[in-house]
Amino acid sequence: MAHVLDGRRLAAEIERRLAAVIAEALDAAGRAPGLAVLRVGDDPASGVYVANKEKACARVGIASLGEHLAAATPAEEVLAVIRRLNDDPAVDGILLQLPLPAGLVEGPLLAAIDPGKDADGLHTLNLGRLLKGESGPRSCTPAGVMALLRTAGIPISGARAVVVGRSILVGKPMALMLQAADATVTMAHSRTRQLAEVTRTAELLVVAAGRPHLIGAEHVTPGTVVVDVGIHRRNGGLCGDVDHARVEPIAAAITPVPGGVGPMTVAMLLVNTVVAWCRRHGLATTALADLLS
Ligand code: NAP
Repeated sequence: MAHVLDGRRLAAEIERRLAAVIAEALDAAGRAPGLAVLRVGDDPASGVYVANKEKACARVGIASLGEHLAAATPAEEVLAVIRRLNDDPAVDGILLQLPLPAGLVEGPLLAAIDPGKDADGLHTLNLGRLLKGESGPRSCTPAGVMALLRTAGIPISGARAVVVGRSILVGKPMALMLQAADATVTMAHSRTRQLAEVTRTAELLVVAAGRPHLIGAEHVTPGTVVVDVGIHRRNGGLCGDVDHARVEPIAAAITPVPGGVGPMTVAMLLVNTVVAWCRRHGLATTALADLLS
């Protein structure tokens, strides 16, 4: 039976650590950290995600300073809100919740976020910092995967890693982080031929394809560590990109869906916000150093 990489448990532990860091530095900073989640429109899934993020903020002592704009809000007005949040000294992190309603283009809006307040780590400057190995806020989902692997003591240096998916949100930064940790990384995508042949070379397999149950037992060599980033609503429940029932018996370790990567994504959003708050106030971030990829 595979070892379960329990994201829910690790996220709870990270929240406890963040709460302690905030409590200790609160007097020196003179204010709590602030995260602004900006939601435009009424996508129901986004509503759930935003509520989860705000609840997590409340648990650790981060102020939620987000706004909810109507779906018909013109781009200029969304930009004006982003600029106001950039200038607001109470805001340490800004997150533009995606997807945006039809008619709004995400690129220019994401680019308008102050890179120092980029809680999602998706600003072009911060992706460039990741590419160059410079410090900066990291994309939350792959940073969460790295934290899960490291905490479980999974060897990364020298490991043959395969990342399925090459999105800016997950696959590309994931591959860069694994490479920075000295894994030998192969990336697969929708044009990859004989996917199973490629994924079977992996000792460490990260799947972020957005295709329910794409990865079955035939894609996995026994003893592989499998990280399932995918998340899909199916038959009233949730499932991932990995056919968990078939892959779990042969994997050495595997993330569940739900309860694997999802909670870690939220935890790393909080980490990015608290680190930005510490930096703004000249406070040490050493207590969180092991979480910074
Ligand atoms: P995305 O932007 O749709 O990218 C999917 C990637 O997978 C693309 O690079 C695509 O290749 C590749 N792909 C699609 N079908 C494939 C196939 N049959 N074989 C191999 N590769 C294939 O998705 P994303 O934003 O990266 O998200 C991926 C999944 O992770 C989704 O289920 C999403 O909901 C989930 N997610 C979860 C979390 C979390 O916190 N748990 C966070 C973010 C995303 P091409 O580039 O060739 O099109």
